[in-house]
Amino acid sequence: MSEKTKIGIIICNRYRTCAGGKCLRALKNREGAFSLYAETGVELVGYTTCDGCPGGNVEYTGEEMVKNGAQVVHLATGMLVGYPPCPYIETFKNFLEKRYGVKVVVGTHPIPKKYLDLHTSLGTWEAAKWEPLLAPTLADEATREAYN
Ligand code: SF4
Repeated sequence: MSEKTKIGIIICNRYRTCAGGKCLRALKNREGAFSLYAETGVELVGYTTCDGCPGGNVEYTGEEMVKNGAQVVHLATGMLVGYPPCPYIETFKNFLEKRYGVKVVVGTHPIPKKYLDLHTSLGTWEAAKWEPLLAPTLADEATREAYN
């Protein structure tokens, strides 16, 4: 196995009490956005929240994660599936990439079926900008069902 990729995860503060169950399961199984590491090792070097709108902790935690060796920062799937989705996803991604030279992937665990169904009925993700943001975590129907 090649060298491990070090990653950090930033979650939406609306889910601050989350113990990371779905993210850690997906990381272990290399599902959702973690399928990127299907052929490599991966090590989690940081996990925290944005600390609430408008995400003031992203600046601090980005620096801390990179100091800890993070090569990739994942913005958790909760930022996509919350009601409403986080309005700062692209801001966080651009900031972290430019400020720290780190790769940013939007998403962690596969999108649960119930969220895809509701957001589809609400029309949340109709704009073209959502397609690349959702792509890493869309998964297949059986996987979405398994993460419900
Ligand atoms: S919506 Fe965005 S800025 Fe607000 S708490 Fe969630 S991740 Fe943070």
